[in-house]
Amino acid sequence: MTTPLAFDLKPSAQPLSDEDRAAVLAAPGFGRHFTDHMVTIRWSEGRGWHDARLQPYAPLQMDPANMTLHYAQSIFEGLKAYRQPDGGVATFRPEENARRFQRSARRLAMPELPEETFVEAIDLLIRQDEAWVPSEPEQSLYLRPFMFATEVGLGVRPANEYLFMVIASPAGAYFPGGVKPVSVWLSEEYVRAAPGGTGEAKCAGNYAASLVAQAEAAQHGCDQVVWLDAVERRWIEEMGGMNLYFVEGTGDDARVLTPELTGTLLPGITRLSLLKIAEDLGYATGEIRLTKDDWRQGNADGSISEVFACGTAAVITPVGSVKSTSASWTVGDGGPGPLTTLLRQKLLAVQSGLAPDPHGWLHRVL
Ligand SMILES: *Cc1c(COP(=O)(O)O)cnc(C)c1O
Repeated sequence: MTTPLAFDLKPSAQPLSDEDRAAVLAAPGFGRHFTDHMVTIRWSEGRGWHDARLQPYAPLQMDPANMTLHYAQSIFEGLKAYRQPDGGVATFRPEENARRFQRSARRLAMPELPEETFVEAIDLLIRQDEAWVPSEPEQSLYLRPFMFATEVGLGVRPANEYLFMVIASPAGAYFPGGVKPVSVWLSEEYVRAAPGGTGEAKCAGNYAASLVAQAEAAQHGCDQVVWLDAVERRWIEEMGGMNLYFVEGTGDDARVLTPELTGTLLPGITRLSLLKIAEDLGYATGEIRLTKDDWRQGNADGSISEVFACGTAAVITPVGSVKSTSASWTVGDGGPGPLTTLLRQKLLAVQSGLAPDPHGWLHRVL
């Protein structure tokens, strides 16, 4: 079973016209428009991975007793393709997404897609839909690989059939009017992930369970929810679907810190990359454990100078203010801090090919 999968190429006879595509790319937003094609690969017990295709983007037909609709064996990834200065296209560390997808699959009792097949499926879609990769600063083509059970039946057990897919959506600048800090709500009622649960897996169910807390944050006038640990409800874990960073001190002595991966945090690739970029810039870095009281105290006495969240979609988002049932406070002066801004620029510069790539993070597709 080591022969590489051959993809059957069935390009669309009716791709969107250049004119209509240009209208979409003029204001793509996020996740609202999809390119002309999609990749699909099937897996079934006995046959393994088969039927790999690139085909026109189209709706799926689904039996009402499809197991995913009932028991949620559903995982996904998110990464971006960036237009390069020479007109080519590159993705950022796609093999990291491939490995995380395998870990998510294992946790949800799903089959693992080989790393090279995952990367090839994405490359194939980008090559076919290259015209959809925007070229304005901070724009990109967002890739969404995902997999779900396709077996029909209501018996509770791992399904014996799955569908892997990749779709793509042009993404505009996340902050078209300039980077704007968010306000966050510390949720003491709801938790995102518990020890032994699925917090480390990028699975649909984690998001379903988070939405009510996000709504609670909005009711308190906050943009985003910050998750505390499930056991003591005081250790800071993540913000919504992004990892968090804390800057201790200022200037050359600043320390760039992020909550350690305890098993209930999602191991972000942006998080991982920023640890390295901060280190390359000469800053001390560390993976720490920090309570909500440490955070409040650190902002009160000035030892914590900046806080930001990071993830593929928004890159880096400054956190400007914090609210909980017992307290509310401002982070620094409430604006984006200098290191937040610097790290954001540095990462974007590597991704868009405007800065050297010493760690070989870019994967050239075209
Ligand atoms: C995807 C995700 C992140 C960020 O991961 P990146 O690889 O940096 O995009 C952080 N937290 C959660 C809960 C996520 O689902």
